[in-house]
Amino acid sequence: MLQPLNTELRQRLRALVGEAGWIGDAARLSPYLAEQRARFVSTADVVICPENTEQVAQVLALCHAARVAVIPQGGNTGLVGGSVAQAGQVIVNLRRMNRIRAIDARARVITADAGCLLAQVQHAAAEVGCLFPLSLAAEGSCQIGGNLATNAGGTNAVHYGVARDLALGLEVVLADGQIWQGLSQLKKDNTGYDLRNLMIGSEGTLGIITAATLKLFAAPADIQTAWLTVPDPARALAVLQRLQTASDQRVTACELMSAQSIDFVTQYLPSARLPVSARAPWHVLIEVAGGSHSGALKPVFEAALTAALEAGEITDAALAHSDAQRAQMWRLRKSIPAAQKPAGGSIKHDICVPLAQIPAFIARASAAVTQLLPGARVCAFGHVGDGNLHFNISQPQGADRAAFLAQWEACNEVVHDITRALGGSIAAEHGIGRLKRDALPRYKSAAALAAMRAIKRALDPHGILNPGAVVPEDLE
Ligand code: FAD
Repeated sequence: MLQPLNTELRQRLRALVGEAGWIGDAARLSPYLAEQRARFVSTADVVICPENTEQVAQVLALCHAARVAVIPQGGNTGLVGGSVAQAGQVIVNLRRMNRIRAIDARARVITADAGCLLAQVQHAAAEVGCLFPLSLAAEGSCQIGGNLATNAGGTNAVHYGVARDLALGLEVVLADGQIWQGLSQLKKDNTGYDLRNLMIGSEGTLGIITAATLKLFAAPADIQTAWLTVPDPARALAVLQRLQTASDQRVTACELMSAQSIDFVTQYLPSARLPVSARAPWHVLIEVAGGSHSGALKPVFEAALTAALEAGEITDAALAHSDAQRAQMWRLRKSIPAAQKPAGGSIKHDICVPLAQIPAFIARASAAVTQLLPGARVCAFGHVGDGNLHFNISQPQGADRAAFLAQWEACNEVVHDITRALGGSIAAEHGIGRLKRDALPRYKSAAALAAMRAIKRALDPHGILNPGAVVPEDLE
């Protein structure tokens, strides 16, 4: 049975981390309690910020002995309520653990504290002429530990893979305070169960990631970027395949955006100029990267887009001729999440289906949702190169926000059932957290759930780590 944080433990923890690592006053607590979707209310009254792995281990050992719940937290940018904490629980935020421990450009590896911001890791790699390719709109505030805990995807996963694919080794503090030192650089290590892969994507329920050894890549000499309009999602996939073939599989980003999502952006950013002139039902932002010198891929890129135009796969194309134009295109894409907010309530889905099923998913889910919620606006966008869409549903214009959001679960069920029927996943890259925990039993097999519960029980027997997240049944 979990216990609330008592005065004695509070004093011991405060003495352990010192004043620099203790946040207990309301004004300073608020950013750690805010939740991105505003669907959960965090009521914890203490955030602990350890300065090193040893302190994380001591915090967990003390909380484990006292049966006090610990909610690991990174940049608090997660979208599924994964780091929400209740009164009597302790938030452990890693922001003070933000050192790059080592970087080796020749071996192409970097070892970073888990509290390093994602952008910090990207910059450290760039300074030695390398690329750390994980990239998402929250990269200026999310932490590398949070990225691994959620197995983040982002815009470059189509070529470089998700966070899991970029990790070579981890250092993790287990629930009872033991430190698992797994900062390996090995590509091959078949010495039993893969603890690294168990921890990645576990959303703070199995351990606290304190450091990671990550893969770096050669920084591409050439990046070609284009904004395209396409008649429908099937044609978006056709142009993706065409560019993959023409560029020898060097498509590093492929984002699909519905007209509705672009309309929200142009309303939200009145100064924004679309790179293409005509209004179109679907937009694609696509990039190829690599090559031996700047401009190396340009002829291939242009020839493939010309062929796509002739084949009717695209209706218009604008190429980025400068870094500024490229940044402007990405600004439009990355503004979509924020641009939905002024449009009122939005019911979110983060789904993945086999690539070929994207057109069927969009057609079936759009029809089903507009039947369930007449007038609702489908704001579909996402990393289509991975089969991943953020299929978000904005309230009808002028509708009552609360009444619309009351349909959240019903709408999720309709969309998720279609996702399952097409062989997909209801949580592509954001995770389960608290938001989708209760939906999990409907979509995950009994065998998989039993294995998850058994793993949770074995590694966290008192259930102190992030109780209420991911695993559908809490442990006593
Ligand atoms: P937090 O939000 O603090 O925590 C997330 C989860 O990880 C929680 O369950 C927490 O308990 C756990 N956790 C955090 N740190 C640790 C640790 N050190 N050890 C163990 N557990 C830990 N996600 C994508 O995948 N792709 C995107 O393209 C994308 N775009 C986004 C765009 C915007 C504008 C925003 C706001 C979010 C976006 N996200 C995206 C979601 C979010 O940024 C990612 O999930 C990110 O990886 C979370 O990192 P964080 O440090 O903020 O973690």
